[in-house]
Amino acid sequence: MSKKIPTRLYLAEDEIPSSWFNLRAFMKDKPDPLLHPGTLKPVTEDDLAPVFCKEAIKQELDETTPFINIPEGLQAFYRAYRPAPLVRAYFLEKALETPAEIYYKFEGTNTSGSHKLNSAAAQAYYAKEEGLVSLTTETGAGQWGSAMAMACAFYGLGLTVYMVKISSEQKPYRKALIETYGARLIPSPSNTTEAGRNILAVDPNTAGSLGCAISEAVEAAVKTDKCRYVLGSVLNHVLLHQSIIGQEAKAAFDKYGIKPDIVIGCAGGGSNLGGLIAPFMGERLAGKNNIRFIAVEPASCPSFTRGKYAYDFGDTAKTTPLIKMYTLGNGFIPSSNHAGGLRYHGMNSILSKLYRDGHLEARAEVQTEVFDAAIKFAKAEGILPAPESSHAIKAAIDEALECKRTNEKKVILFGLTGTGYFDMSAYMAYNAKTMTDYIPTDEDLERTGFASLPKVDL
Ligand SMILES: *Cc1c(COP(=O)(O)O)cnc(C)c1O
Repeated sequence: MSKKIPTRLYLAEDEIPSSWFNLRAFMKDKPDPLLHPGTLKPVTEDDLAPVFCKEAIKQELDETTPFINIPEGLQAFYRAYRPAPLVRAYFLEKALETPAEIYYKFEGTNTSGSHKLNSAAAQAYYAKEEGLVSLTTETGAGQWGSAMAMACAFYGLGLTVYMVKISSEQKPYRKALIETYGARLIPSPSNTTEAGRNILAVDPNTAGSLGCAISEAVEAAVKTDKCRYVLGSVLNHVLLHQSIIGQEAKAAFDKYGIKPDIVIGCAGGGSNLGGLIAPFMGERLAGKNNIRFIAVEPASCPSFTRGKYAYDFGDTAKTTPLIKMYTLGNGFIPSSNHAGGLRYHGMNSILSKLYRDGHLEARAEVQTEVFDAAIKFAKAEGILPAPESSHAIKAAIDEALECKRTNEKKVILFGLTGTGYFDMSAYMAYNAKTMTDYIPTDEDLERTGFASLPKVDL
């Protein structure tokens, strides 16, 4: 390992992995299955057919195929913005005076600005292949909506995006970007769906939530011909698509003989984290490494660290299949002064199982400290990170400082999921010192969240 490590550990175009890594196939103890909320039996392909694309359903339920081929028509699109850089953070290491080696996998080089395009493109590709003409989806902070708008424009599909109302007001440029790529954007809750009208009837001034926008998008898809619903996180097929992140990172590391000791990702619904860790976790489960995996979530929406491991709905209107996951309850809505994204109430079921079984650690961070870390990183490395990504930066810095204290030369990899150019209002709040840290009390969690968990006896 005498080879000098370059700042960017690029892969050549023909070294981009041509298959996704299906982590479940490598787990002896599988996550609990999705359940039909009526029968409480595991869902079948037929149950999901009215809502999701066929291939997404197949992938969602596939827990045995280890590697799933990325179709050539999709690889071609991936090559327009991949491989994503794997960067040695030499300047951050120096700023921290740490003996640790820090690397980040940077997913913000495409216009949508995050890793979400990896799954958006896959889902649009399959929708087109099966002859659909349009898709619906929800978006919270706007990254997923932007990614889907780009993907639908590329593959020639119509798209309706239900955007959480408060986000559509706080992030007008996200809205504009989505519309520029040709999608129809509806602030949620809206009066265009029954789910939206029901929520507005209870609280006309609601800020909206991801769970509520999901309900609207699902309803619209089911009621429209040749239309299906797509989701940008939480579900297993989304994690599968995001495994391109980990596959590339591992291929680049292998080229240089580098083995990470710690892999860190921010966690909203879990897709980038699950994708980043997938091949490394596969090896750990086979006893081939002892990597520490760390999920970092906001203290204001702490699904792993304070949630319950229970069957819950994916949406507020309680229409989705039941998912066994760490959850704050489908009724949980994070405080509106929370600017850092990652506001989903639950966590992907594969990651939930890995956390339950002790293969994954989790920690929660408050947003002012997350922004401190973001700015330290931006000043050292030049990239303005997304607030979401900055949760991972915070943990990577803490681990690097711990290495300084103990004088250990660990290799740290974290996922830099995106850029923060559309999040300037959050940075403005930070700069103006009006950003506050809100941590829900146990009573808050009980009242708004856990009380909404389905009362199923399983
Ligand atoms: C959506 C998003 C996340 C969180 O979603 P996951 O599914 O948990 O990965 C993280 N970072 C950025 C930049 C995002 O857009």
